[in-house]
Amino acid sequence: MKTAAIIPAAGIGTRMRSASPKQFLCLEGVPIILHTLSKFARCELVQKILVAVRGADRERLEELIQKEPWSGKVQLVAGGTFRQDSVYNGLCALDPDTEVVAVHDAVRPFVEVEMISAVIREAAVRGAAILAIPAVDTVKQVEKNLVTATLPREKIVLVQTPQAFRYSLLKEAYEQARQDNYFGTDESSLVERLGQEVVVVRGSERNIKITKPSDLPLAELLMKLEK
Ligand code: C5P
Repeated sequence: MKTAAIIPAAGIGTRMRSASPKQFLCLEGVPIILHTLSKFARCELVQKILVAVRGADRERLEELIQKEPWSGKVQLVAGGTFRQDSVYNGLCALDPDTEVVAVHDAVRPFVEVEMISAVIREAAVRGAAILAIPAVDTVKQVEKNLVTATLPREKIVLVQTPQAFRYSLLKEAYEQARQDNYFGTDESSLVERLGQEVVVVRGSERNIKITKPSDLPLAELLMKLEK
């Protein structure tokens, strides 16, 4: 099965308030993006990894990757204005005979190799699969500071990446979204619009998205535990 991963890594990380975008910050002396890429490099189901990167970060990412034994699996593509544009650039750069594509945030370095394999396998059979964990907190809908609804917690999951899809399906979903000027916060939302069923695979509480400065101490701890 011809499978590829797209890693959007072209964010500027305004919420992190650091000089460097968050994917270039180090955990245990290694940039977050390298931790993430090494997980995909170790996944036997993934043959090719496309990383979307800003022009300003391209050279330093190239330098980091070329030292790795798995550098041959990786290809860089141009990042876009929004995450969705970065992923689209990756999709357009893939071989048209790619069968399954997994999309994963560069800033989720704690994903387990087995979870990557699990979503890819499900997507190959069912078309679309995402990682998610059950909600432990009660989730409410609000407008300004007023509650408008309490959502049934047993029906709520918190969605992570990777999200994997048959390539032709994801490409169609992206083309349709572009045509409709629709912007989603994940790949699945674009695919759902086509009426496609999406399978939920159990993710992990450790698979956090490193976004804010307050995520860093937890990320350091998780990296120590992983070692
Ligand atoms: O902005 P957000 O936290 O949702 O970013 C999730 C991932 O998408 C990050 O890995 C970030 O680098 C990437 N991204 C991108 N292109 C953008 C914005 C974000 O590749 N224009």
